[in-house]
Amino acid sequence: MSDVQHTWRIGLYPGSFDPITNGHLDIIARAARMFDKLVVGVAMNAGKGPLFPIAERVELVQAELAAVTERTGTPIEVRPFDTLLVKFAAEVGASTIVRGLRAVSDFDYEFQMAGMNYRMRPEVETVFLMASERHQFISSRFVKEIAQLGGDISSFVPALTLERTLARVAKR
Ligand code: ADP
Repeated sequence: MSDVQHTWRIGLYPGSFDPITNGHLDIIARAARMFDKLVVGVAMNAGKGPLFPIAERVELVQAELAAVTERTGTPIEVRPFDTLLVKFAAEVGASTIVRGLRAVSDFDYEFQMAGMNYRMRPEVETVFLMASERHQFISSRFVKEIAQLGGDISSFVPALTLERTLARVAKR
């Protein structure tokens, strides 16, 4: 028997998910392979005026995750939060915060956030993952803008999210 103890590792992937995109799903699938359990934290306060209310953002993340859970077998829990990220990480027992990096443009913000979080709670590590080339440039912000201007967003978001985004945009 090996004397190496396996510690149960929980990862936390936080974001606004307004709405969830194929870029987010790519990161979730990668993170699911790295941890024994993944918590996807949906930030209640998504800047000024999110397109989707928090309950629907959570619902969509949950629904779109099903395929990833089936593929990886890793339990994934989706939870809304409105507290300090490092506090939330402690609350869910996460050892690691996962963030996605797109282009250089994300770096400055992510660098500052990781640094400040480390100062507040050094026992929680932040790791950065990159999506596959196909999904790297996708952002929720542009998805919303393109949809509002009548463009085709079907290759950027999963099916149910596409349907709901088009419905919301039509109502506005
Ligand atoms: P926030 O509102 O904090 O920017 P988002 O919901 O936009 O949160 O994204 C959550 C995390 O996922 C962030 O770390 C963001 O950089 C990352 N992310 C979003 N889209 C992509 C993508 N296409 N490829 C890689 N990472 C991404």
